Amino acid sequence: MRAQQQALAEQQTRDQLLAQQLALEEQTKEELENKVEERTIELQITLRELEEKNTELERINNEDPLTGVKNRRFFDKRLEHELRRSQRDDAPLSLLMIDIDHFKKVNDSYGHPAGDAAIKLVSQTIKACLRRPFDHVCRYGGEEFAVILPNTTHEGALKLGEEVCTEVGQQQVEFSEHQFSLTVSIGVHTAYGETTAHAGDITHMADEALYHAKAHGRNQVISSQSLP
Ligand code: GH3
Ligand code: MG
Ligand code: MG
Repeated sequence: MRAQQQALAEQQTRDQLLAQQLALEEQTKEELENKVEERTIELQITLRELEEKNTELERINNEDPLTGVKNRRFFDKRLEHELRRSQRDDAPLSLLMIDIDHFKKVNDSYGHPAGDAAIKLVSQTIKACLRRPFDHVCRYGGEEFAVILPNTTHEGALKLGEEVCTEVGQQQVEFSEHQFSLTVSIGVHTAYGETTAHAGDITHMADEALYHAKAHGRNQVISSQSLP
């Protein structure tokens, strides 16, 4: 009888211990799950912040700090990309090379900050003339801009060039007590999906047309097709 009572008591103690152990395991599991959930949320937030930083970095990498338009690095990459696309789709790709006329005189007469304001105004004027989402104005260098026009015929690009020329001529740069106007010269070239064309050839041809425009009086648009 006593032995039976002792065995029962021992059994009860074992059951209690087991119940305590199970409760403890359950609590530990819950705490662990909560911690994992917390860490997952923290990681997701960090990942999103990293993505945002990457996007911002990509934007800064491709943007000209003075004007806010795309920079030369973007131009080089995008022209290659658009050329391959035009070859694949057998579609035209046009390029405008735009250079501000007698810009050195602007700096000399009104100072560099006024020159900077003029560069900004020209970049915004060009940008305002573009209508398609894949048209891009890039600051090619100093006071020179390049406009990439995917899927645009030569006639279309010449028309846009004329519009830019007229619009820039109508703007007034206002800087402190100075007020002055500017003109631009523009060279236009179009690649018609030729598989042999390199991005450098397109830039070279548009540049040739631009220098022709400079040599023949400035403030005008010249087609690469009219070069001698
Ligand atoms: P052209 O009609 O033949 O193009 O003559 P230009 O005077 O415009 O050309 P040139 O190449 O002789 O001079 C370009 C000037 O642009 C010289 C340079 O100091 C100025 N320039 C280049 N980048 C900047 C800039 O970021 N800000 C300012 N203010 N001037 C710049
Ligand atoms: Mg110039
Ligand atoms: Mg120049």
